[in-house]
Amino acid sequence: MKLHLNVEYLLSRSLTGDGVQRVKKFIAEETKEILIKGVPKDKISESPKILDLKISDDAISVAIESGTYARSHAVAIRLKNSLSMLLGKEFKIGIKKIVGQKYTLTLDLEKIPKDPIKIPFVDSISIEGNNAILILRDLDEEFLTKNHVDRIISLFYDKVEAQFWGGKGEHWELISKSKEITPLTTKDPTTELLALGWLKQGPSQGQWFYHAPIATLLRTMERIAVEEILKPLGFIEVIAPKLVPFEIWEKTGHLSGSEPEIYYVSPPVSRDISVWEEVIDLYKITKKAHVDKIRERMRDPIGGMTYAQCPPMYWAFDGKTIDDSEFPILIYDKSGPSYRWEAGGRQGIERVNEFWRIEPVFIGYPDQLIELKEKMMERYAYVFDKIFEIEWRTAWVTPFYMAQSGQTGVEKETERIKGTIDYESWIPSRGSRDKSEWLEFQNLSIVGDKYTKAFSIKSSKNKELWSGCSGIGLQRWTVSFLAQKGLDSDKWPKEFKKYLGEFPRQIKFV
Ligand code: ATP
Ligand code: ZN
Ligand code: MG
Repeated sequence: MKLHLNVEYLLSRSLTGDGVQRVKKFIAEETKEILIKGVPKDKISESPKILDLKISDDAISVAIESGTYARSHAVAIRLKNSLSMLLGKEFKIGIKKIVGQKYTLTLDLEKIPKDPIKIPFVDSISIEGNNAILILRDLDEEFLTKNHVDRIISLFYDKVEAQFWGGKGEHWELISKSKEITPLTTKDPTTELLALGWLKQGPSQGQWFYHAPIATLLRTMERIAVEEILKPLGFIEVIAPKLVPFEIWEKTGHLSGSEPEIYYVSPPVSRDISVWEEVIDLYKITKKAHVDKIRERMRDPIGGMTYAQCPPMYWAFDGKTIDDSEFPILIYDKSGPSYRWEAGGRQGIERVNEFWRIEPVFIGYPDQLIELKEKMMERYAYVFDKIFEIEWRTAWVTPFYMAQSGQTGVEKETERIKGTIDYESWIPSRGSRDKSEWLEFQNLSIVGDKYTKAFSIKSSKNKELWSGCSGIGLQRWTVSFLAQKGLDSDKWPKEFKKYLGEFPRQIKFV
């Protein structure tokens, strides 16, 4: 890696002859410390260098070249601080502004990208032999100070990597499978439910109206999750907001890949009826919603509808120091739907734009979470084996927090305790158990310290805190059950019927 930066320091006044000599001396003789700070002892030969110095009337320009240690942009800022002190003290001159005029990043490539790569702030990217040359221009102090350049370098390598992983899809590795169960049906649940009139599609894309019988089934799933899994393990219920501002997703990292699936929300520009008069009148006359006129009266989006329930649950602990006796913290939310723009991927009631999940979130010491995960997995297994009596399996998959940013791997073998486990059920209407695609009906993730760090959640004894969550999809539980057990409730497992109670009658349509 070679990072070549031309940086200019604009001065508040002209530098005198003396000043020029002083700056030259400083750059030549007094910058050693600035240049080697942060460079490992055995890499001193790779320390940054100042290659060129030009002093004009009211500007000092330098060219800095570095390798990976003590990068040129960091050196440019250190240099600014030192020059400021020197010029201020000895010549009463300040530095008005610093501009990174041209920054050339020469990055070593192990694999040559197949397709062109685009990155914001980067003017051009070219490939020369085993190097990629990225050129950035006109960079201000904030850009040089914050980690922007380092993130651009990582993003570039991620994009190269993605070109090679691209088609391979997510990582998937079987962990366990239940015993084989002969299904009572091979019919598709959604088709059956539609035929019975228990479901109605719409009114908007990826939405369903669930008539009483299927609503009862969804609520039964919810009760089973709460009574058989969450309460026995000590989880307590919270109610999280369902409109999530961008600030929260900026911290959780959902804004590094979930964007195409988010339902964005914009409040009105004004609550004043006069602002809306035209829209109201248009409706009164035409009985139509005039979307173009509504759009004109909307603010920019402030965020979006719940994508997963955990981000606001972490936010609730933002910056808090929690007494150690409280760990592990075990909470869950089941208070509202989640929304995702699934576009062409929609399917039946199992892959919809509006769906219901219960999401337990847990925060505690690593060993507490490792133990909790085992217990949760035991409770889940009990529900699927003994209450649903379905055929299901678990697999290690690319953790959701990596998938969001387009990564496809799993945590290192030694760190296998962190990561995401998907639960999948066999859907006989899709084909044989060996050949068909199974349905992911829930997952369980141990996230490590990613979110506790992002939200500065601390233990009073300052111990390491991890977190995790599990997304229990109610539609997916329902489909997993109906796809194997069919719709004849007389044939459903005894334990399930205990939870179901009385099955409501469906309204008859003529
Ligand atoms: P998929 O790969 O099926 O799109 P996902 O990886 O996007 O799932 P997660 O973000 O891990 O799903 O969400 C966790 C759980 O939320 C899923 O296991 C599932 O139960 C539920 N879920 C996610 N998307 C949908 C959807 N579109 N319709 C119904 N349930 C969903
Ligand atoms: Zn979550
Ligand atoms: Mg998805």
